[in-house]
Amino acid sequence: SEELLNIKNLKTYFHTENGIVPSVDDVSITINKGETLAIVGESGSGKSVTSLSIMRLIDSPGKIEEGEILFNGKDIVPVPMKEMRALRGNDIAMIFQEPLTSLNPVFTIGNQMSESIKLHQKKNKKEAKKLSIEMLQKVGIPRADKVFDSFPHSLSGGMRQRVMIAMALSCNPQLLIADEPTTALDVTIQAQILKLMKNLVTELNTSILLITHDLGVVAEMADRVVVMYAGQVVEETDVFTLFQDPKHPYTKGLMDSTPKIHELKDELSSIPGAVPSPLDYPKGCRFIDRCPFAMKKCAEEHPNLEEILPKHSVRCWLHEEKVVDLHDTKSFA
Ligand code: SF4
Ligand code: MG
Repeated sequence: SEELLNIKNLKTYFHTENGIVPSVDDVSITINKGETLAIVGESGSGKSVTSLSIMRLIDSPGKIEEGEILFNGKDIVPVPMKEMRALRGNDIAMIFQEPLTSLNPVFTIGNQMSESIKLHQKKNKKEAKKLSIEMLQKVGIPRADKVFDSFPHSLSGGMRQRVMIAMALSCNPQLLIADEPTTALDVTIQAQILKLMKNLVTELNTSILLITHDLGVVAEMADRVVVMYAGQVVEETDVFTLFQDPKHPYTKGLMDSTPKIHELKDELSSIPGAVPSPLDYPKGCRFIDRCPFAMKKCAEEHPNLEEILPKHSVRCWLHEEKVVDLHDTKSFA
């Protein structure tokens, strides 16, 4: 499989009055063509900052300090903003949790869709309208010509998210970044939107980077999963292995706290303790205060991300000598 995106040792830091917040702290992630990769983690894990870094939407006091973001082999960290904007319209699209904030309330849906199509695809007004309506139909919007002429506030949340997906996909992007795309929607609509995204991806061979704290969404959508904690990747493997055989205690905690696969609360209350302050990460493992497996070494040395099994990487000292099955050991209960 061919690599579409290759993030190498990315560091995105925020320079606050209280000190440096290393939101993304040496993160490496690849996404292949046609693949759906999920990044899972709590608030503050760095998952959204990772996606905003790819879009180059990090504003002061945030800054990409180090690392490369290779898109089709080309590093997009140093490209000028003008070029980046063209890339964002054509090759990388993003949908957010709450579509109302990304739709302009004073313009009709059709107006906003056509503008973006005209801008990025050199189409005239008539062609842009035709394509907009086709895309609205494609995402399952009934009476698309009517919706084309309506304002965002007159549509339901589910319809607005469909419109956002139609807009995002109208430029036929190679990469779709979806940050909590269904969190604001009720369960039935959520399932419909996920199914829609899945179909479109199969049809158009788009790659998806899915940012979520919802393990149900992960199980439904992802091919591979990256688990982030305190600005770093702590585990990475295929979706089946992650659910069957999690190797990082944090991942196991996530699984244990969701006995039936459903939504994790953004605060994972069932894992005792809290994420450490990013201004004051422990010297050793960042999960140490919440980990029932912690050993002496964990306090002293920061673990590296190691490939402990084929295509299964974990950042944890527990597997240093032999790979441990966490099912046989202590639980969080
Ligand atoms: Fe727990 Fe130690 Fe592994 Fe960190 S390195 S997750 S503290 S066992
Ligand atoms: Mg977020």
